[in-house]
Amino acid sequence: MTYVVTDNCIRCKYMDCVEVCPVDCFYEGENMLVIHPDECIDCGVCEPECPAEAIKPDTEPALENWLKLNADFAKVWPNITQKREPPADAKEFDGVPGKLEKYFSPEPGEGD
Ligand code: SF4
Ligand code: SF4
Repeated sequence: MTYVVTDNCIRCKYMDCVEVCPVDCFYEGENMLVIHPDECIDCGVCEPECPAEAIKPDTEPALENWLKLNADFAKVWPNITQKREPPADAKEFDGVPGKLEKYFSPEPGEGD
């Protein structure tokens, strides 16, 4: 089991999650974060910290595609352990449906 980052992180990226993870397993894309499934120890601490409610345990149904996206991009995006300023328009994108199709970027973020 692991936790995965899902749709509502895209363009929100508040980064409250990265500071609480005891094993630093968040990786940063241009406009979202992912969790490395092989590094996550399933502690669950990050889930309630996410203001966008974007972090879910992979035991929830229909998360296979998100698990694959987290696994694939955690291998190529840089590690992030410190919170930075979220995008200025993050609030406007909170809860917008279908962000994966509309806004996902495969480009890496800055990392720490
Ligand atoms: S706190 Fe939630 S929305 Fe913010 S970066 Fe982490 S997973 Fe994404
Ligand atoms: S469940 Fe724990 S180990 Fe996994 S990403 Fe969240 S804080 Fe890190």
